[in-house]
Amino acid sequence: MKTLLSFLAALSLSAVASAAAPRPPNIVFIFSDDHAYQAISAYGDSRKLLATPHIDRLAQAGVRFDRCLVTNSICGPARATILTGKYSHLNGFPNNSNSRFDGEQVTFPKLLQKAGYQTALVGKWHLGSDPTGFDFWQVLPGQGIYYNPPMIRMGERITEPGYTTDIITDRSIEWLKRRDKTKPFTLMMQHKAPHREWAPALRHLGADQDRVYPEPPTLFDDYANRGPAVAGQDMTLEKTFTDRDAKFVPPAGINEEQLKQWNAYYEPRNAKAKAANLTGKDLVRWRYQRYMHDYLMTVRAVDESVGRMLDYLDQEGLAENTIVIYSSDQGFYLGEHGWFDKRWIFEESVRTPLVVRWPGVTKPGTVNRDLVSNVDFAQTFLAAAGAPAPADMQGHSLVPILRGQKPADWRTAFYYQYYEYPAPHRVRPHYGVVTDRYKLVHFEAVGGPAYWELYDREKDPQELRNVIAEPGYTAAKAQLEKQLAQLRTELKVPAETPAHFYGNQPVTPGAEPAQKKNRKKQP
Ligand code: CA
Repeated sequence: MKTLLSFLAALSLSAVASAAAPRPPNIVFIFSDDHAYQAISAYGDSRKLLATPHIDRLAQAGVRFDRCLVTNSICGPARATILTGKYSHLNGFPNNSNSRFDGEQVTFPKLLQKAGYQTALVGKWHLGSDPTGFDFWQVLPGQGIYYNPPMIRMGERITEPGYTTDIITDRSIEWLKRRDKTKPFTLMMQHKAPHREWAPALRHLGADQDRVYPEPPTLFDDYANRGPAVAGQDMTLEKTFTDRDAKFVPPAGINEEQLKQWNAYYEPRNAKAKAANLTGKDLVRWRYQRYMHDYLMTVRAVDESVGRMLDYLDQEGLAENTIVIYSSDQGFYLGEHGWFDKRWIFEESVRTPLVVRWPGVTKPGTVNRDLVSNVDFAQTFLAAAGAPAPADMQGHSLVPILRGQKPADWRTAFYYQYYEYPAPHRVRPHYGVVTDRYKLVHFEAVGGPAYWELYDREKDPQELRNVIAEPGYTAAKAQLEKQLAQLRTELKVPAETPAHFYGNQPVTPGAEPAQKKNRKKQP
């Protein structure tokens, strides 16, 4: 009996010891650029645009977040927010035009390094300065290209032959193979795809067998019942879509051999389109179909990349103690309102996919509808690693939510602010508050007079009707104004937006925008 008791005591002591010092989890952050949740089958879009079996595999084993909102819906600003856990006005990266990331500031990869992690970043960076806080990094310069991309590896400029999504996956897995296996790791595998100009891998050209995709109900939105900002943008399939977007021009960097295969797919289809001499709605419909083929086929390569990474983690016995996250820098329009691109506080743009698998923590197949954000990622990674987060980070750790234990005081209102104007897509600077049901939006006095809009997503899920002046919304509006003011104070938003936040093209407050368009810059 005595022996049994001491055996049990020893057993419980060793259980306490291992509970006190669990091995910190590895973190694999798989990130893409402009990946709309509508183009992930786990999200169940009504158009059923494509199957993404590997991202779905993550969702089946983890949590799919249905309302992950970004602080500022464009590339660089989203990345800066993720690294710092701060909004654009505090991390110094409000736009893709004249912002440059200050690599001296505190970021979660640096804090994870201090906590004993090895860190690596492979793929798209798009923050101007060189990455800091990574033991290994290899990035695309600027926006990057889809074929045979120049890359910068630890400061050295190189050119990588092949298709960019595959290269980023290869280099990520190679780093995992040669990492110091005595330490936990964080890997950020960041794809360029499916960013404009949506150039698929050769193996995926026509992989949809010339499917005719269902059109969104708002493809021919007339922008009625909303203010001048919505009508005044420059991101339509009708007016903004270029010959390069339509693949009448081949992608940058493609070599002769690759171009033969490229042309074998596009040339006959382009010739047919030209011969049809399409105009008006027919042309928009054709462009929508071309856009869907190209965009969705680039997503196929991203999904394959996720599959390769998951397989590698399984093979190496790493899956059990590795958190795998799939997300994008923001949402994207897939023809809704006649648009491509992002930037808006509206749903397709502000909402980004987020799927998290953490074996032993996330309950398989969970769907979460809490208001979470990319400003929460830094604190989440730090909490998962058991490392303290600095007090000036502005998000909240998602770890309790991942465990299925939502804190009672979790946010019920979210602050959004977009700045870049007028190029490249003439979306007027705006800020606002998002709740479960409503969005209250203030368009700033830039590119036109300031004004307010209010949307009721419960009655108007497609956000087609500004109800700010309608009877019955007085109380909701007052409540939202209060929440907005509170958030602006809490988040230390400057009362007046500094002029340089809008970018490097001068804007006169209240004036109509210059019509000059910058087609080269495609953030
Ligand atoms: Ca982006």
